[in-house]
Amino acid sequence: MTLAVAATNDWLRRFAQSVVDNEQLLTDLDAAIGDADHGSNLRRGTLAVVEQLETEPASTIGGALRAAGMTLISTVGGASGVLYGTFLLRMATSVADRATATAPEVIAALRAGLEGVRTRGHAELGDKTMVDVLAPAIDALDAAVASGASLADAASTAAIAAQAARDATTGLVARRGRASYLGDRSVGHVDPGAASTALLFAALAGALAETTAVDA
Ligand code: ADP
Ligand code: MG
Repeated sequence: MTLAVAATNDWLRRFAQSVVDNEQLLTDLDAAIGDADHGSNLRRGTLAVVEQLETEPASTIGGALRAAGMTLISTVGGASGVLYGTFLLRMATSVADRATATAPEVIAALRAGLEGVRTRGHAELGDKTMVDVLAPAIDALDAAVASGASLADAASTAAIAAQAARDATTGLVARRGRASYLGDRSVGHVDPGAASTALLFAALAGALAETTAVDA
């Protein structure tokens, strides 16, 4: 099975919906170790993405991801807008003008996105950022596909891995972003960007499960 343009749009829409549903939670997490704007930042950005998908539908996966990335960068003031935007722009460059992407192509695109976030934000694994969810979730997707799972099943495995990785950020000391100002006092809280990244993988799993249901 592959990722199609419709499923890509559905992924972005589902992410926006779950950001809206979890806005307060994301803001509360950011209130504890940041400046209490992660929920409102991502709500503004993802709703702008959805509006744009409706007014200017893209005909390729790369087109949809590129437009979404640019919209996030221009509408979100915080660090997360640039980082999520960079993630989607790098994914877009990787999948380019395909109307469908195979599982290896999706994995390569996600890895390119992760590399973009790392380059842009200089965060390594263990620094208590979105990287701590992106990396293990992509690894889980890759491993599941390598062991023969469909893309949809692999995405749901990745979503579960993302939740565990989100929870594991609680024990980490923040070394990047605003939370790093707190030093050791950042321990004991889930990283807000890790929490929203877990929503991103849940949205991907939801969009791909829906595609499978329609195919069947
Ligand atoms: P801001 O920190 O500018 O207020 P947000 O509150 O929207 O932006 O997003 C904060 C999240 O962004 C953090 O929880 C973290 O996951 C992520 N983040 C911040 N800085 C970096 C970085 N340098 N590299 C990776 N992720 C980062
Ligand atoms: Mg913030």
